[in-house]
Amino acid sequence: MIIGEYAACGTCGKNYRLRIQVGLDKIQNHNFHCLKCQESIYVKLAIGDGDNSGIIFGENCLQGTADDATPQYLSSDFFAGVDEVNAPKSMPSLNFMMDVIKKIGINKLNEIKNKKENILTGHQKRPEEIWPTLKKAWRMKRSGQNKLSESMIKKFSKENGYTLTLNLPYFFF
Ligand SMILES: [Zn+2]
Repeated sequence: MIIGEYAACGTCGKNYRLRIQVGLDKIQNHNFHCLKCQESIYVKLAIGDGDNSGIIFGENCLQGTADDATPQYLSSDFFAGVDEVNAPKSMPSLNFMMDVIKKIGINKLNEIKNKKENILTGHQKRPEEIWPTLKKAWRMKRSGQNKLSESMIKKFSKENGYTLTLNLPYFFF
């Protein structure tokens, strides 16, 4: 799910239509650089009950309007390509799921969904326990730091008593 809100850069007033992907964290911290003045803009999404829930404007971020607003996709969980970040209707999370379906097949995906399991490989870790390590290991790999990425995965596996892999299929329904 993507939550929308208008925000404006606190420095130059440029408007943005924030498109915040609801992820696994209870508090999502986001920041991006203003396309007009390059200043950092900070915004949070809190997922909780009642008053504890919603979008919180942070440093250099004000309520905005639709006037000439540029779409800005923000996610803690999905990578967005350069052509997706400011696109009005981009869905990086959907693209991710489509890639997963292509790789493992729709039947396997349905099998996992029908079992109502959030874990494919049988280990008992919650997504939020695995994701910080996996995310970091993926970043290392993407930046060419393969050895660092591998040692991070090995260390986590050893400390937690099972084998974590970079390509762990993990579904959370
Ligand atoms: Zn600005």
